[in-house]
Amino acid sequence: MIKKTNYSSAFSFLKALKLLMLLQVFFTGSRAQPHLFDSIFLTPSQINYYVSALAHDSMQGRATGTDGMMKAAHFIAQQMKAIGLQPVKTNDGYFHNYGKLSYWDKHEAINVIGAIPGSSKPDELVIFSAHYDHIGKIKSKKDSVFNGANDNASGTALLLQLASYFVQTKPERTILFIAFSGEELGLKGSEEFAASIDEDKVRAVINFDMVGRSPKKIIYMSGTEYGDVQSVMNKELFTVNKEKFGKNYLKGNAPVVQFFSRSDNYPFALKGIPAHTISATPDNDRHYHQLSDETATLDFELMIELAKTIFIATQPIVNGTVKLRRIRVD
Ligand SMILES: [Zn+2]
Repeated sequence: MIKKTNYSSAFSFLKALKLLMLLQVFFTGSRAQPHLFDSIFLTPSQINYYVSALAHDSMQGRATGTDGMMKAAHFIAQQMKAIGLQPVKTNDGYFHNYGKLSYWDKHEAINVIGAIPGSSKPDELVIFSAHYDHIGKIKSKKDSVFNGANDNASGTALLLQLASYFVQTKPERTILFIAFSGEELGLKGSEEFAASIDEDKVRAVINFDMVGRSPKKIIYMSGTEYGDVQSVMNKELFTVNKEKFGKNYLKGNAPVVQFFSRSDNYPFALKGIPAHTISATPDNDRHYHQLSDETATLDFELMIELAKTIFIATQPIVNGTVKLRRIRVD
């Protein structure tokens, strides 16, 4: 997630804390999964492996345009291929190159994209995304690499795990799984990609940013006032397992300042596409953009449960059984 641009927003920590205490948490993680998807959920979780690789010192903090970014991009493409995602024809394999962001960059910036073609509505797109870039490293410190395990190796890992579930189904719509770069420099990768697509074809964008740490195990969705994606997903979860998920699994009103405009959903939302970010980490997280954002601080159980939950909740969206409202965001 990118830094706040304005600290004077109406966010009140006490207000948020009160809200957190009031909200009922249904996230148990221990109950049986719904029968329909039992066989799919036997797929081994690779989340720990993905995060450990991306947040490893050898990735050098994954700053866009660096060797670390390039290494991470190759790793993600390799995983997409192993999962069975298909490259998009207009790209260079799994790579969507969008040029150097600065004169000094060693490499062009790269988004990594894999697809599952839709079975009956291939021209209708649903996008799942997460940024894989982070803020790089600093010189001459003992631990000099910002590994960005939560921000956002966690979202990238969730994205890949989710792809490994969906690839076993035949979604009616085409699903694109996109790992963006350039996010930490101001949503550059998503901006480039959003500018390149026909917004009428994209039915929804669901983005993951910082999904590995949650003190209260609460899952938030940004921009819930813009459209009905939250209510569609919550309704589906309630229908599938009301004891486990309750009526209000995905919460709006996250204790995160400028939540809606601080991640890769935003360039799509500006084009009128229903586009939201899912996150688990409040703004007061002490590891945010710190050297201490390491793999060991993540809650893998939470992430695996979240991958399964998103897979269940988005079935009406990937199959086009609901028509989502489109609201222009100014
Ligand atoms: Zn960040």
